[in-house]
Amino acid sequence: MTFTELKLIKPLLTALDKKGYKEPSPIQQQSIPHILLGKDIFGCAQTGTGKTAAFALPILQLMDANRKPNQRREIKALILAPTRELATQISENFKEYGENLGFKHAVIFGGVSQFHQVVSIKTGIDVLIATPGRLLDLMQQGIIKLGSVEYFVLDEADRMLDMGFINDMKKVIAKLPVKRQTLFFSATAAPNIMKLANTILKNPVSVAVNPVSSTATLVKQTVYFVQKTKKPALLKHILKENNINHVLVFTRTKHGADKVAKALNGFNIKAEAIHGNKSQNNRERALKGFKDRTINVLVATDIASRGIDVDKLTHVINYEIPEQAEAYVHRIGRTGRAGESGEAISLCSHEELPYFKGIQKLIKKDIDVIKKHPYS
Ligand code: AMP
Repeated sequence: MTFTELKLIKPLLTALDKKGYKEPSPIQQQSIPHILLGKDIFGCAQTGTGKTAAFALPILQLMDANRKPNQRREIKALILAPTRELATQISENFKEYGENLGFKHAVIFGGVSQFHQVVSIKTGIDVLIATPGRLLDLMQQGIIKLGSVEYFVLDEADRMLDMGFINDMKKVIAKLPVKRQTLFFSATAAPNIMKLANTILKNPVSVAVNPVSSTATLVKQTVYFVQKTKKPALLKHILKENNINHVLVFTRTKHGADKVAKALNGFNIKAEAIHGNKSQNNRERALKGFKDRTINVLVATDIASRGIDVDKLTHVINYEIPEQAEAYVHRIGRTGRAGESGEAISLCSHEELPYFKGIQKLIKKDIDVIKKHPYS
């Protein structure tokens, strides 16, 4: 299938061509036709499946079709995302896909001064991408009004609930026009997610790709069993031995992320940690360095990793095994994305064995054990 067959308009096709996308991903194939027909969507898809384009492209197209002459700029599309990284990423996508359409967008999130965000909103925007807390804050100050919203997207709804945004979300939703199109995306369809979805969607079409219990088949998965204290040396060995110079490394805690980055720097490997205790500037710098490849290893906690969007990630390393098996699936979803192959390597200590077993059970698959290594 091609993007043309999805009946996308020329300005979007040109932008997609520039991005080098050859064909729509499964979530795009399944969602775009329904969204263009005005349907609500319940989309079960995780990051890495192309879900951002799956909602951004048809929204831009609908906004273009519904343009009225001499209309004042007001917020017609609202996208709620759980983290600033994800919000920023979505905003970059809107910019790229919409570059030939002339719409304006703004992105707002907490943890930084509201000044520049308010200035950009006051100039008039068509699309607003926001994290719930800052949005609510600016709504309460009377700076943002949502009365003209026609398209509402809730992205990574599962993560929003995990992060405790439910009340903020409900307050925002209460201010939206009842007549609107709502697109709801979540990596899981757990009961609490379904309950929330049922309260805000009207006759939704359900689409699903990569259910959370089946990991992307293109991702090669291996594990090294190793003592906890030997992990830094083993990590260095793995990076050198396999010539890996662009990799996302996961830890369970912020402190762990800092420690790993420091250990790697001690081995003369360029690494940075990214997590919630770092300032926004710091995080953006680390992310930019990683994208520019001046930093080879980005060490992240699970929450910080959500929404980090980097093209062609060939490797992810689980330096620590996550307690929640689903987190493993999210982590390795960062590689082998959009049809490319990838590799996920896990370092598992004796204490982590129960978590590891939980993962194998969830993904219904034995992960290959690398037996021969200097620290076994
Ligand atoms: P997302 O799941 O929205 O975070 O997208 C994951 C990655 O896939 C991003 O880097 C996108 O730029 C990329 N992507 C999205 N759609 C396509 C496509 N149809 N072909 C190739 N890459 C894509």
